[in-house]
Amino acid sequence: MERTRSKELYAEALRLMPGGVNSPVRAFRAVGGEPVFFARGEGPYVWDVDGNRYIDFVASWGPLILGHAHPAVVEAVCRAARQGMTFGAPTEAESTLARMILEAFPAMERVRFVNSGTEAAMSALRLARAYTSRPKVVKMQGGYHGHADALLVQAGSGVATFGLPDSPGVTEGMARDTLVVPYNDLAAVEALFAQIGDEIAAVIVEPVAGNMGVVLPQEGYLEGLRRLTREHGALLILDEVITGFRLAYGGAQTLWGLAPDLTCLGKVIGGGLPVGAYGGRAEVMALVAPEGPVYQAGTLSGNPLAMAAGIATLEELRKPGAYERLAALGRRWAQGLAARAKEAGIPLQVNAIGSMMTAFFTEEPVRDYASAKRSDAARYARFFHAMLQRGVYLAPSQFEASFVSLAHTPEVVDAALEAAGEAFRNLAAS
Ligand code: PMP
Repeated sequence: MERTRSKELYAEALRLMPGGVNSPVRAFRAVGGEPVFFARGEGPYVWDVDGNRYIDFVASWGPLILGHAHPAVVEAVCRAARQGMTFGAPTEAESTLARMILEAFPAMERVRFVNSGTEAAMSALRLARAYTSRPKVVKMQGGYHGHADALLVQAGSGVATFGLPDSPGVTEGMARDTLVVPYNDLAAVEALFAQIGDEIAAVIVEPVAGNMGVVLPQEGYLEGLRRLTREHGALLILDEVITGFRLAYGGAQTLWGLAPDLTCLGKVIGGGLPVGAYGGRAEVMALVAPEGPVYQAGTLSGNPLAMAAGIATLEELRKPGAYERLAALGRRWAQGLAARAKEAGIPLQVNAIGSMMTAFFTEEPVRDYASAKRSDAARYARFFHAMLQRGVYLAPSQFEASFVSLAHTPEVVDAALEAAGEAFRNLAAS
């Protein structure tokens, strides 16, 4: 498979943009080699600038739950664009999408649109701190909530650690109020609350972790976080930027029957355009400006194109059977991978739920960041490139989720599994 044009474009991009990209993981540093430049996407497929076709399991990192260029979404965006791209003033579409979100998420009584998941999480934290008049937040090791300073905090190992900055440019002051505990470790959260409960404004968590690869919450974990936060007067923030409208129409919180104080959304609700949202209890959201004193704003927030794409996407998702189809495709993909790895004698832990999945190259179950890190990332890199050569585009990192969309069919999944079988056999032989 030739990628001459991709190589040329990458060389040029390197001279123009840091690392040649506008978001680091796109640069393939975790798997080696050079990024593929895409020209076009349709349904479950993407085509690169050299004309090669790939089955896509990245889905732009989650938004494209209907697949690429879904006709209803494209039509809605074009229609909106012809009416004027943005006004910086209220439009009816904002209320339409807001109503759809509030109906889907009973714990959300009010919502505010922003332009990214980063903004959603950052704003939710500011609000939680304002509401509780407390400084500290608890996040999970390996949990990603965008790149706001206070959330770019490295975790220590095992025990709860007070935050150290994860990136130069984030000062210790900015990171000091972020406490990090392992995912799925309720006792660690309990210990923190026992120690300094009256300083903790919020616990923020991906209900199903997606940014250390997919890791499911253990039984009672999320319920335990809800109980502890409530007991100590802290807010529970569910970051459903990935899981919202993906695991179920009402997100993970519907599946687990949880009522968080605040929820962060992104990705799917923008149908492929830049959108985030945060929302929750009316009493808390009442603090957001202009109703309240907590400032948060955006020139393009709630813009007509993004709202149109989001509305069209949710309209497709609420058609009967959408989530059953997603789950069936997800199962076929996850179980198929596990079976083919086993046939080839490759140890693989497949963590999957609904349409999201990560196959970790390890013998041990993956239940948190530490166990995720024990997987063989070099082996994943070889698998990734073997799949790429066979026309399957996976996330260029072991610690990411793979997604199926409603545009994937059982036949498309089977074609990718065929490629995976070959790739596993080659790995076993090498
Ligand atoms: N929260 C979660 C759970 C995410 O997965 C991401 C992005 N992958 C973000 C927040 C940040 O979203 P964005 O990239 O849109 O800023």
